[in-house]
Amino acid sequence: MVTTRRIEARKRIALVAHDNKKKDLIDWAEFNKVVLAKHELLATGTTGKLLEEQLDRPVKKLLSGPLGGDQQIGALIAQGEIDILIFFWDPMEAQPHDSDVKALLRVAIAWNCVVANDRATADFVLTSPLMHSSYTINLPDYTGYLKRPIEGETK
Ligand code: PGA
Repeated sequence: MVTTRRIEARKRIALVAHDNKKKDLIDWAEFNKVVLAKHELLATGTTGKLLEEQLDRPVKKLLSGPLGGDQQIGALIAQGEIDILIFFWDPMEAQPHDSDVKALLRVAIAWNCVVANDRATADFVLTSPLMHSSYTINLPDYTGYLKRPIEGETK
């Protein structure tokens, strides 16, 4: 069974950057301000505040990443409410919320979310012609998993 999810031309883009990567993300966002203006932005708390200041536009701010913001974004991805995840994570420093980082990356892949983890990939994503049109994502088929037999389950 093939299930799909339609992404509209106006994308819902989630942005997250670890502290050592925030400058990188803000510079990238400034450079791509014109394209980003066409889409809806949401972000973890601190990243969102910095983006709002830099871009001078509203950004929906969730909780700060280590305080649950990464998990909020993960939940929105699972609910099909985010189309693109721009997540500049720091490969050189352990985070207090490493388990949340791993969970976010995992759930994004589980739902075939478009993900960019560095500036070059984010540039490729943002300059794709698909940024300006709708697109249908084929979702992995989890029917077999959902219907797996569970010991003791009554049908
Ligand atoms: P922050 O969270 O934007 O609130 O700093 C980022 C993160 O997930 O570490």
